Amino acid sequence: MTVVKYFLMTSLLFSLVACNGEGTQPGTDEGNDSTDVGIGGENPDDGSNGGTTDGGSNGGTTDGGSNGGTTDGGSNGGTTGGSTGGGTTTPSDGVPTAAKNFKVNITYVNFTAAQKTKYEQAVAIVKKVVASKTFMDSVKNHKYGGKVTYVDNGGKTNATIYQNILDGNEKLNNTKNNTMDVEIELYYANNTTVGYTYANSKRIWVNTKYFNTYTPSKVAGNLFHEWLHKLGYGHASSYSTSRDYSVPYAIGYMISSQGAKL
Ligand SMILES: [Zn+2]
Repeated sequence: MTVVKYFLMTSLLFSLVACNGEGTQPGTDEGNDSTDVGIGGENPDDGSNGGTTDGGSNGGTTDGGSNGGTTDGGSNGGTTGGSTGGGTTTPSDGVPTAAKNFKVNITYVNFTAAQKTKYEQAVAIVKKVVASKTFMDSVKNHKYGGKVTYVDNGGKTNATIYQNILDGNEKLNNTKNNTMDVEIELYYANNTTVGYTYANSKRIWVNTKYFNTYTPSKVAGNLFHEWLHKLGYGHASSYSTSRDYSVPYAIGYMISSQGAKL
């Protein structure tokens, strides 16, 4: 028995030492050290690009800036009149009813009450921005290389991408329910990955190292970025200027920058 106790003591002491050793960065992520159990082997596939990227996984197609040709130039420019948004009625301001009714359905995993409150602020921002004419116009009029298009757009026009958002048709659900359906799990890791997800999972993992310091509008942008992966949009895994024009990055930025102005 005493031997067992001795070993326990030693390992306790050892782990305390190890924690102190790692914790050389003051101030980050108070109190969440225990949440990263089990994340270790999951290999978030981002990391490398230093700074603040999302780590989103569904990678695959990284056609960088090569999307010449097929995009439909300016044709979705001035069409905000009556006929946007298949099937939905369009009020006089041109924003489809589906944008104004857009819903967000989140399952929270590993959240404290305060973290949940913060996330709910982010959710409110997402809904407000999606409901706005500013958002509709910026999604539809987004340009890359002088054309109305996105990098890595999966062959879709801006208008179709906007409609995909309103449909809320995640690949895994395959139902157009006008709702963002996701699970969010908080974890802590002392690395550069803000969050990540997998193509075959409804869940998005969010690193509290960043989450705890982000403003709600930045959290909102990050959520939207990861969710766009759930709709099937990808981007290059390493940083390039063109990557910022991919669907997840460009529209994620719109959510956070427009959300910050609300
Ligand atoms: Zn991503």
